[in-house]
Amino acid sequence: MVVILKDHADQKKVKNLTDWLENQGLAVHSVVGQYQTILGLIGDTSKVDIDLIEGLDIVDNVKRISEPYKNANRKFHPDDTVIDVGGVKIGGGHFQFFAGPCSIEGRDQIISIAKDVQKAGAKILRGGAFKPRTSPYAFQGMRGDGLKLMLEAKKETGMPIVTEIMDASHLPLFEDVDIIQVGARNMQNFELLKELGKIDKPIFLKRGLAATLQELLMSAEYIMAEGNEKVILCERGIRTFETATRNTLDLSAVPMLKEMSHLPVVVDPSHATGIARLVKPMAFAAAACGADGLMIEVHNDPAHALCDGPQALHPEEFAEVAGGVNKILEAVRGL
Ligand code: PEP
Ligand code: MN
Repeated sequence: MVVILKDHADQKKVKNLTDWLENQGLAVHSVVGQYQTILGLIGDTSKVDIDLIEGLDIVDNVKRISEPYKNANRKFHPDDTVIDVGGVKIGGGHFQFFAGPCSIEGRDQIISIAKDVQKAGAKILRGGAFKPRTSPYAFQGMRGDGLKLMLEAKKETGMPIVTEIMDASHLPLFEDVDIIQVGARNMQNFELLKELGKIDKPIFLKRGLAATLQELLMSAEYIMAEGNEKVILCERGIRTFETATRNTLDLSAVPMLKEMSHLPVVVDPSHATGIARLVKPMAFAAAACGADGLMIEVHNDPAHALCDGPQALHPEEFAEVAGGVNKILEAVRGL
Protein backbone atom coordinates (compact mmCIF):
# COMPACT_ATOMS: atom_id res chain seq x y z
CA MET A 1 0.00 0.00 0.00
CA VAL A 2 1.28 3.48 -0.73
CA VAL A 3 0.20 6.71 0.94
CA ILE A 4 0.75 9.82 -1.18
CA LEU A 5 1.12 12.87 1.05
CA LYS A 6 0.02 16.37 0.19
CA ASP A 7 2.59 18.95 -0.82
CA HIS A 8 4.04 20.66 2.31
CA ALA A 9 2.36 18.22 4.68
CA ASP A 10 2.87 19.08 8.33
CA GLN A 11 5.95 17.06 9.41
CA LYS A 12 4.62 16.46 12.92
CA LYS A 13 1.44 14.96 11.52
CA VAL A 14 3.48 12.84 9.10
CA LYS A 15 5.52 11.55 12.04
CA ASN A 16 2.30 10.72 13.95
CA LEU A 17 0.96 8.80 10.95
CA THR A 18 4.25 6.92 10.50
CA ASP A 19 4.35 5.97 14.21
CA TRP A 20 0.72 4.83 14.08
CA LEU A 21 1.40 2.63 11.05
CA GLU A 22 4.56 1.18 12.57
CA ASN A 23 2.62 0.35 15.70
CA GLN A 24 0.40 -1.82 13.48
CA GLY A 25 3.44 -3.92 12.63
CA LEU A 26 4.19 -2.30 9.28
CA ALA A 27 7.50 -1.03 7.97
CA VAL A 28 7.18 2.47 6.51
CA HIS A 29 9.51 3.60 3.74
CA SER A 30 9.42 7.25 2.92
CA VAL A 31 10.30 8.43 -0.58
CA VAL A 32 10.79 12.19 -0.69
CA GLY A 33 10.34 13.65 -4.16
CA GLN A 34 10.67 17.22 -5.39
CA TYR A 35 6.95 17.88 -5.07
CA GLN A 36 5.51 14.96 -3.18
CA THR A 37 6.36 12.48 -0.45
CA ILE A 38 5.19 8.91 -0.69
CA LEU A 39 5.03 6.44 2.19
CA GLY A 40 5.40 2.82 1.14
CA LEU A 41 3.84 0.41 3.64
CA ILE A 42 5.40 -3.04 3.82
CA GLY A 43 3.77 -5.96 5.63
CA ASP A 44 0.23 -7.26 6.02
CA THR A 45 -1.92 -4.25 5.18
CA SER A 46 -5.18 -6.21 5.07
CA LYS A 47 -6.26 -4.74 8.42
CA VAL A 48 -5.30 -1.14 7.62
CA ASP A 49 -8.28 1.22 7.45
CA ILE A 50 -7.79 2.89 4.09
CA ASP A 51 -10.70 5.33 4.53
CA LEU A 52 -9.31 6.57 7.81
CA ILE A 53 -5.91 7.37 6.24
CA GLU A 54 -7.51 8.94 3.18
CA GLY A 55 -9.51 11.23 5.46
CA LEU A 56 -6.38 12.79 7.02
CA ASP A 57 -5.66 16.35 5.91
CA ILE A 58 -2.00 15.54 5.13
CA VAL A 59 -2.96 12.72 2.75
CA ASP A 60 -3.61 13.21 -0.93
CA ASN A 61 -4.30 9.61 -1.96
CA VAL A 62 -3.94 5.99 -0.81
CA LYS A 63 -3.42 3.08 -3.18
CA ARG A 64 -3.53 -0.61 -2.45
CA ILE A 65 -0.87 -2.54 -4.32
CA SER A 66 -1.87 -6.01 -3.14
CA GLU A 67 -5.42 -7.29 -2.70
CA PRO A 68 -7.10 -7.18 0.72
CA TYR A 69 -8.03 -10.87 0.52
CA LYS A 70 -5.20 -13.18 1.53
CA ASN A 71 -6.66 -16.64 2.16
CA ALA A 72 -8.69 -16.64 -1.05
CA ASN A 73 -5.87 -15.13 -3.11
CA ARG A 74 -4.27 -17.18 -5.88
CA LYS A 75 -0.97 -15.35 -5.22
CA PHE A 76 -0.48 -17.07 -1.89
CA HIS A 77 -2.00 -20.39 -2.96
CA PRO A 78 -1.09 -21.03 -6.61
CA ASP A 79 -2.69 -24.49 -6.87
CA ASP A 80 -6.43 -24.91 -7.42
CA THR A 81 -8.36 -25.89 -4.32
CA VAL A 82 -10.11 -29.22 -4.70
CA ILE A 83 -13.06 -29.75 -2.38
CA ASP A 84 -13.94 -33.33 -1.55
CA VAL A 85 -17.50 -34.03 -0.44
CA GLY A 86 -17.77 -37.68 0.47
CA GLY A 87 -15.61 -38.69 -2.48
CA VAL A 88 -17.16 -36.21 -4.93
CA LYS A 89 -14.44 -33.74 -5.94
CA ILE A 90 -15.04 -30.16 -7.05
CA GLY A 91 -12.34 -27.94 -8.61
CA GLY A 92 -8.89 -28.52 -10.05
CA GLY A 93 -10.26 -30.24 -13.16
CA HIS A 94 -13.13 -31.99 -11.36
CA PHE A 95 -16.42 -30.72 -12.82
CA GLN A 96 -19.73 -31.39 -11.05
CA PHE A 97 -23.45 -30.83 -11.56
CA PHE A 98 -25.41 -29.56 -8.58
CA ALA A 99 -29.00 -30.23 -9.61
CA GLY A 100 -32.44 -30.37 -8.07
CA PRO A 101 -35.50 -28.26 -7.43
CA CYS A 102 -35.52 -24.67 -6.27
CA SER A 103 -37.39 -25.80 -3.20
CA ILE A 104 -38.29 -29.07 -1.55
CA GLU A 105 -42.05 -29.46 -1.87
CA GLY A 106 -42.68 -32.99 -0.64
CA ARG A 107 -41.17 -36.44 -0.16
CA ASP A 108 -42.08 -37.92 -3.55
CA GLN A 109 -41.07 -34.74 -5.37
CA ILE A 110 -37.55 -34.49 -3.94
CA ILE A 111 -36.81 -38.21 -4.09
CA SER A 112 -38.00 -38.62 -7.65
CA ILE A 113 -36.07 -35.56 -8.85
CA ALA A 114 -32.98 -36.74 -6.96
CA LYS A 115 -33.09 -40.10 -8.75
CA ASP A 116 -33.65 -38.46 -12.13
CA VAL A 117 -30.77 -35.98 -11.86
CA GLN A 118 -28.50 -38.68 -10.49
CA LYS A 119 -29.28 -40.85 -13.51
CA ALA A 120 -28.41 -37.90 -15.74
CA GLY A 121 -24.98 -37.52 -14.12
CA ALA A 122 -25.48 -35.08 -11.25
CA LYS A 123 -23.41 -36.02 -8.23
CA ILE A 124 -24.78 -33.38 -5.85
CA LEU A 125 -28.44 -32.78 -5.06
CA ARG A 126 -29.66 -29.23 -4.51
CA GLY A 127 -32.94 -28.20 -2.88
CA GLY A 128 -34.05 -25.26 -0.80
CA ALA A 129 -35.71 -25.74 2.58
CA PHE A 130 -35.33 -22.16 3.84
CA LYS A 131 -36.18 -19.92 0.91
CA PRO A 132 -35.19 -16.25 0.66
CA ARG A 133 -38.23 -14.92 -1.21
CA THR A 134 -38.65 -11.32 -2.33
CA SER A 135 -42.23 -11.32 -1.04
CA PRO A 136 -43.06 -12.31 2.54
CA TYR A 137 -46.36 -13.69 1.14
CA ALA A 138 -44.62 -16.13 -1.24
CA PHE A 139 -43.89 -19.76 -0.29
CA GLN A 140 -41.09 -19.62 2.27
CA GLY A 141 -39.96 -23.22 1.91
CA MET A 142 -40.73 -26.28 4.03
CA ARG A 143 -37.99 -25.20 6.44
CA GLY A 144 -37.06 -27.87 9.03
CA ASP A 145 -39.48 -30.41 7.53
CA GLY A 146 -37.96 -29.79 4.12
CA LEU A 147 -34.47 -30.43 5.47
CA LYS A 148 -35.64 -33.80 6.83
CA LEU A 149 -36.94 -34.75 3.37
CA MET A 150 -33.67 -33.62 1.81
CA LEU A 151 -31.81 -35.93 4.20
CA GLU A 152 -34.14 -38.76 3.20
CA ALA A 153 -33.30 -38.11 -0.45
CA LYS A 154 -29.61 -38.20 0.48
CA LYS A 155 -30.09 -41.56 2.18
CA GLU A 156 -32.12 -42.96 -0.68
CA THR A 157 -29.65 -41.97 -3.41
CA GLY A 158 -26.33 -41.62 -1.60
CA MET A 159 -25.93 -38.15 -3.11
CA PRO A 160 -24.31 -35.38 -1.04
CA ILE A 161 -26.72 -32.46 -0.63
CA VAL A 162 -26.46 -28.67 -0.79
CA THR A 163 -29.08 -26.43 0.79
CA GLU A 164 -29.29 -22.80 1.84
CA ILE A 165 -28.92 -21.44 5.35
CA MET A 166 -30.44 -18.05 6.18
CA ASP A 167 -29.65 -17.74 9.86
CA ALA A 168 -26.77 -19.04 11.97
CA SER A 169 -29.25 -20.12 14.66
CA HIS A 170 -30.42 -22.85 12.24
CA LEU A 171 -26.95 -24.44 12.13
CA PRO A 172 -27.87 -27.41 14.40
CA LEU A 173 -30.41 -28.46 11.74
CA PHE A 174 -27.61 -28.55 9.14
CA GLU A 175 -25.52 -31.17 10.98
CA ASP A 176 -25.94 -33.81 8.21
CA VAL A 177 -25.99 -31.38 5.30
CA ASP A 178 -22.87 -31.84 3.15
CA ILE A 179 -22.54 -28.37 1.62
CA ILE A 180 -24.14 -25.26 3.09
CA GLN A 181 -25.29 -22.63 0.62
CA VAL A 182 -25.16 -18.90 1.33
CA GLY A 183 -27.55 -17.22 -1.05
CA ALA A 184 -26.99 -14.06 -3.05
CA ARG A 185 -29.01 -12.02 -0.57
CA ASN A 186 -26.85 -13.13 2.32
CA MET A 187 -23.46 -12.83 0.64
CA GLN A 188 -22.64 -9.89 2.88
CA ASN A 189 -24.29 -11.18 6.05
CA PHE A 190 -20.94 -11.04 7.76
CA GLU A 191 -22.04 -12.47 11.11
CA LEU A 192 -23.44 -15.52 9.29
CA LEU A 193 -20.21 -15.86 7.28
CA LYS A 194 -18.12 -15.74 10.46
CA GLU A 195 -20.19 -18.52 12.03
CA LEU A 196 -19.80 -20.64 8.88
CA GLY A 197 -16.06 -20.05 9.12
CA LYS A 198 -16.01 -21.92 12.41
CA ILE A 199 -17.42 -25.18 11.03
CA ASP A 200 -15.77 -27.88 8.97
CA LYS A 201 -18.11 -28.08 5.98
CA PRO A 202 -17.88 -26.74 2.43
CA ILE A 203 -19.72 -23.45 1.92
CA PHE A 204 -21.35 -22.69 -1.43
CA LEU A 205 -21.14 -18.90 -1.62
CA LYS A 206 -23.33 -17.18 -4.21
CA ARG A 207 -22.40 -13.79 -5.62
CA GLY A 208 -24.61 -10.95 -4.38
CA LEU A 209 -26.95 -9.22 -6.82
CA ALA A 210 -24.74 -6.14 -6.96
CA ALA A 211 -21.43 -7.48 -5.68
CA THR A 212 -18.09 -7.00 -7.37
CA LEU A 213 -15.74 -9.94 -7.65
CA GLN A 214 -13.55 -8.40 -4.98
CA GLU A 215 -16.55 -8.16 -2.67
CA LEU A 216 -17.37 -11.82 -3.35
CA LEU A 217 -13.79 -12.76 -2.47
CA MET A 218 -13.90 -10.60 0.65
CA SER A 219 -16.98 -12.57 1.72
CA ALA A 220 -15.08 -15.81 1.08
CA GLU A 221 -12.31 -14.27 3.18
CA TYR A 222 -14.70 -13.82 6.11
CA ILE A 223 -15.31 -17.58 6.09
CA MET A 224 -11.67 -18.52 5.51
CA ALA A 225 -10.26 -16.11 8.09
CA GLU A 226 -12.14 -18.09 10.75
CA GLY A 227 -10.47 -21.32 9.64
CA ASN A 228 -12.86 -22.86 7.11
CA GLU A 229 -10.96 -22.99 3.82
CA LYS A 230 -13.61 -24.96 1.93
CA VAL A 231 -15.41 -22.31 -0.06
CA ILE A 232 -17.02 -22.79 -3.48
CA LEU A 233 -17.77 -19.56 -5.36
CA CYS A 234 -20.90 -19.26 -7.49
CA GLU A 235 -21.64 -16.80 -10.29
CA ARG A 236 -25.45 -16.59 -10.48
CA GLY A 237 -25.97 -13.44 -12.47
CA ILE A 238 -25.90 -9.83 -11.39
CA ARG A 239 -28.44 -7.06 -11.64
CA THR A 240 -27.93 -4.74 -14.60
CA PHE A 241 -30.16 -2.41 -16.65
CA GLU A 242 -31.27 -5.40 -18.74
CA THR A 243 -34.77 -6.67 -17.98
CA ALA A 244 -35.20 -9.35 -20.67
CA THR A 245 -33.47 -11.85 -18.40
CA ARG A 246 -33.90 -12.19 -14.62
CA ASN A 247 -30.24 -11.23 -14.10
CA THR A 248 -27.22 -10.84 -16.37
CA LEU A 249 -24.87 -13.82 -16.35
CA ASP A 250 -21.37 -12.44 -15.94
CA LEU A 251 -19.38 -15.22 -17.55
CA SER A 252 -16.16 -13.24 -17.57
CA ALA A 253 -16.34 -13.65 -13.79
CA VAL A 254 -15.28 -17.28 -14.27
CA PRO A 255 -11.81 -16.79 -15.79
CA MET A 256 -11.35 -13.60 -13.75
CA LEU A 257 -12.14 -15.30 -10.44
CA LYS A 258 -9.85 -18.15 -11.39
CA GLU A 259 -7.05 -15.65 -11.89
CA MET A 260 -7.78 -13.89 -8.63
CA SER A 261 -8.46 -16.96 -6.51
CA HIS A 262 -7.70 -20.68 -6.18
CA LEU A 263 -11.26 -21.52 -5.09
CA PRO A 264 -13.62 -23.55 -7.33
CA VAL A 265 -16.09 -21.51 -9.39
CA VAL A 266 -19.56 -22.84 -10.21
CA VAL A 267 -22.08 -21.17 -12.54
CA ASP A 268 -25.84 -21.08 -11.93
CA PRO A 269 -27.52 -20.37 -15.30
CA SER A 270 -31.00 -20.92 -13.79
CA HIS A 271 -31.05 -17.89 -11.49
CA ALA A 272 -28.86 -15.94 -13.91
CA THR A 273 -31.39 -16.08 -16.74
CA GLY A 274 -34.69 -16.99 -15.05
CA ILE A 275 -35.74 -18.64 -18.33
CA ALA A 276 -35.59 -22.42 -18.78
CA ARG A 277 -34.77 -22.33 -22.51
CA LEU A 278 -31.71 -20.15 -21.86
CA VAL A 279 -30.22 -22.56 -19.33
CA LYS A 280 -28.77 -24.89 -21.96
CA PRO A 281 -26.82 -22.31 -24.01
CA MET A 282 -25.54 -20.59 -20.88
CA ALA A 283 -24.56 -23.92 -19.29
CA PHE A 284 -22.61 -24.77 -22.44
CA ALA A 285 -20.88 -21.39 -22.38
CA ALA A 286 -20.03 -21.76 -18.68
CA ALA A 287 -18.48 -25.16 -19.30
CA ALA A 288 -16.46 -23.76 -22.20
CA CYS A 289 -15.06 -20.85 -20.19
CA GLY A 290 -13.64 -22.92 -17.36
CA ALA A 291 -16.33 -23.29 -14.69
CA ASP A 292 -15.81 -26.12 -12.19
CA GLY A 293 -19.47 -27.00 -12.13
CA LEU A 294 -23.04 -25.99 -12.80
CA MET A 295 -25.93 -25.48 -10.42
CA ILE A 296 -29.15 -26.15 -12.32
CA GLU A 297 -32.75 -26.12 -11.11
CA VAL A 298 -34.71 -29.21 -12.14
CA HIS A 299 -38.38 -29.91 -11.40
CA ASN A 300 -40.65 -32.81 -12.34
CA ASP A 301 -43.52 -30.38 -12.98
CA PRO A 302 -42.12 -26.88 -13.60
CA ALA A 303 -45.54 -25.43 -14.46
CA HIS A 304 -46.72 -26.15 -10.91
CA ALA A 305 -43.47 -25.53 -9.01
CA LEU A 306 -43.93 -23.51 -5.83
CA CYS A 307 -40.81 -21.50 -6.59
CA ASP A 308 -38.89 -20.56 -9.77
CA GLY A 309 -40.89 -22.79 -12.15
CA PRO A 310 -40.15 -20.66 -15.26
CA GLN A 311 -36.43 -21.37 -14.99
CA ALA A 312 -36.68 -25.06 -14.05
CA LEU A 313 -35.74 -27.84 -16.47
CA HIS A 314 -37.63 -31.11 -16.78
CA PRO A 315 -35.38 -34.03 -15.81
CA GLU A 316 -35.12 -35.07 -19.51
CA GLU A 317 -34.02 -31.56 -20.45
CA PHE A 318 -31.44 -31.64 -17.69
CA ALA A 319 -30.11 -34.96 -19.01
CA GLU A 320 -29.73 -33.36 -22.44
CA VAL A 321 -27.87 -30.36 -20.99
CA ALA A 322 -25.58 -32.58 -18.92
CA GLY A 323 -24.77 -34.71 -21.99
CA GLY A 324 -23.91 -31.62 -24.03
CA VAL A 325 -21.82 -30.10 -21.26
CA ASN A 326 -19.77 -33.29 -20.99
CA LYS A 327 -19.04 -33.12 -24.72
CA ILE A 328 -17.97 -29.49 -24.38
CA LEU A 329 -15.70 -30.29 -21.44
CA GLU A 330 -14.11 -33.01 -23.52
CA ALA A 331 -13.68 -30.67 -26.48
CA VAL A 332 -12.09 -27.81 -24.52
CA ARG A 333 -9.81 -30.00 -22.40
CA GLY A 334 -6.24 -29.27 -23.31
CA LEU A 335 -7.12 -26.32 -25.57
C1 PEP B 1 -31.26 -20.62 -4.81
O1 PEP B 1 -30.22 -21.16 -5.20
O2 PEP B 1 -32.28 -21.26 -4.55
C2 PEP B 1 -31.30 -19.15 -4.65
C3 PEP B 1 -32.24 -18.56 -3.93
O3 PEP B 1 -30.33 -18.54 -5.32
P1 PEP B 1 -29.77 -17.03 -5.22
O4 PEP B 1 -29.37 -16.83 -3.79
O5 PEP B 1 -28.64 -17.05 -6.18
O6 PEP B 1 -30.90 -16.13 -5.65
MN1 MN C 1 -34.53 -20.79 -7.16
